[in-house]
Amino acid sequence: MNPKSDNKLKGCALALDIGGTKVAAAIVSFNGDILGCARVTSPSTDNPDKYFQAVRYCAEDALKSAGVSPNELAGIGCGCGGPMRWPSGHVSPINIPTWRDFPLRDRLAETFDGKPVYVHNDAVALAAGEHWKGAGQKARNMIAVTISTGVGGGLILNQHLFHGYRNIGHLVVDPDGPECKCGAKGCLEAIASGPSAVHWALSQGWIPPHGDTADSTTLAQSANAGDSIASQTLARAGFAVGAALINCANLLDLRIAVLAGGFSQSGPFFWDAVHQSFSIRAKMDLYAKW
Ligand SMILES: [Zn+2]
Repeated sequence: MNPKSDNKLKGCALALDIGGTKVAAAIVSFNGDILGCARVTSPSTDNPDKYFQAVRYCAEDALKSAGVSPNELAGIGCGCGGPMRWPSGHVSPINIPTWRDFPLRDRLAETFDGKPVYVHNDAVALAAGEHWKGAGQKARNMIAVTISTGVGGGLILNQHLFHGYRNIGHLVVDPDGPECKCGAKGCLEAIASGPSAVHWALSQGWIPPHGDTADSTTLAQSANAGDSIASQTLARAGFAVGAALINCANLLDLRIAVLAGGFSQSGPFFWDAVHQSFSIRAKMDLYAKW
């Protein structure tokens, strides 16, 4: 029997990742093999149903590429940007303005004939995935952090996914730092999210080269091409991430941190600063395994 048909007999799940930039879908077997996947650019629309239609088409493409029919699915797991009401799955993602209190979980259950549906914050889904099959396998306590348009985090504590309302993005990493959208000052997100970093670089005199758009991709390109304001901005973000991680590690006895998200892929200026920030602050023997 080939592995694909074996997996189909045991059942498989539809995994969805819904963001403001892209929608991705995969058909995943019970042992974690990806049997098929699809990805589309997020639609630009102010119609909530049209946005959902794009999600549905992406899911159908993934099913087709896996050769799996919807009635073979055991269930659906969906990561989506927050904020959201959990576990009801009413989502109001900051990056998807057309969805406000959108009943995503109900709509997916309706589309897939009453199959079980779980909707969670995308960073929580990242933590679950990394703990199951990725960098955090067998970790007792770990954190997964998404660094992109916003900053979010998911925790595994005592080998279990933690479902609380914590938000690493609003840990204060600089009490005198810039104002945050949440109303506080010096939050991690106010320094280390892509838009915050771009805003700070522009305030320091950064000029995107060749008349390019001032966004986090251009900022990273600019840093890697030798622009000192851009590289300092990435380092500032990386230092802030390192400080937040060490705070979490001190509090929760974490052993592994996984960083993901578009802005975390900005290159060595960001990552070197994360490591440096961490090594300056992680002085006790208990960090030896990091
Ligand atoms: Zn904040």
